[in-house]
Amino acid sequence: MRAKTKMIHGGITGDEQTGAVSVPVYQVSTYKQDEVGKHRGYEYSRTGNPTRHALETVIADLENGKAGFAFGSGMGAMTSVMMLFNAGDHVVLTDDVYGGSYRLMSKVLNRFDLEHTFTNTSSPKAVEAAIQENTKAIFVETPTNPLLKITDIRKMAEIARKHDILLIVDNTFATPYWQQPLDLGADIVLHSATKYIGGHSDVVAGLVVVNTDELAEELHFIQNSVGAVLGPQDSWLIMRGIKTLAIRMEAIEANTKKIVAFLENHANVSAIYYPGRESHPGHELAKQQTSGFGGMVSFDVGSAKKAEEVLGKLTYFTLAESLGAVESLISVPAKMTHASIPAERRQELGITDGLIRISVGIEDADDLIEDLKVALSDKKKQLV
Ligand SMILES: *Cc1c(COP(=O)(O)O)cnc(C)c1O
Repeated sequence: MRAKTKMIHGGITGDEQTGAVSVPVYQVSTYKQDEVGKHRGYEYSRTGNPTRHALETVIADLENGKAGFAFGSGMGAMTSVMMLFNAGDHVVLTDDVYGGSYRLMSKVLNRFDLEHTFTNTSSPKAVEAAIQENTKAIFVETPTNPLLKITDIRKMAEIARKHDILLIVDNTFATPYWQQPLDLGADIVLHSATKYIGGHSDVVAGLVVVNTDELAEELHFIQNSVGAVLGPQDSWLIMRGIKTLAIRMEAIEANTKKIVAFLENHANVSAIYYPGRESHPGHELAKQQTSGFGGMVSFDVGSAKKAEEVLGKLTYFTLAESLGAVESLISVPAKMTHASIPAERRQELGITDGLIRISVGIEDADDLIEDLKVALSDKKKQLV
């Protein structure tokens, strides 16, 4: 089955009993047992729920993995994955991971003595150097936020195998439509399904797919023990999102290409970060490991003041955190998603005060470009 077909016919489709074409929302917490200890596959919805199970099955299919797991958020998913490790273990992570992942490792899990090192995973040498005796996993996000840095997943898998440790990939930005980390050698894939997979800015959810039965068993034990599960209604909404993931990603990328071409020729834009551009340092690598460049673009307008002016003049780009939705979103990372990172560190990473990040939606590209044209011009906003 090809990717586009899998999104419609993968996993569990419909309902055997009634012929319903859509998987029903099993809004239920507990299940009748025929005898003590004899049930029909479901006992209690934290342990398993048919709607959630259908979502877990389709995401496992899309990522070519053994088993999928749905959580109440991307962070719930990551926390549960980190519960695979013990106090005293160590994890090497991409240095510009999602802010919440940074916070989880450095402000919460550190209290339980799960150690970490953040390093530039675009450099395999840096990763090798960060590995310690007690390292149990490499955790990479690729592309990253907001500079769209690319990490070589195959190379990371090689390093992980050499040291007999796990490779975990946050695949939120690329989605399983463009990138399948398990096929490139990763052991665990993680998603904030809140973003592209859900795709409509209406659900917070997290997904994990693992590549072995052992990991599946361990993670199910943790999912059931920790209990950060996704509810049936939200599971259904995420499945609905998956059905259009392929066409949304295609439409988003087509729009993004046009917007990037517009930004490239704009005098007030001093830098553009998009892996689809030949000048992007990760361009060749992205071509080798992904089948699309996605819809996230960052560009520099020079100063915090200019960035603020641009945001104030936009009509179709909604100023908001999050990404990956049908509507175009815009943010200033230094003031929003990355505000908790010290200014000095931001400067080191290249997240300047004039950096604007857009998540391109599926509106008409011409409207989006006209909107950016007005916002980027030096003219004051016309009051009507
Ligand atoms: C949003 C996001 C997360 C966290 O997901 P939530 O669903 O918000 O908990 C993790 N990783 C990346 C790359 C994200 O963009």
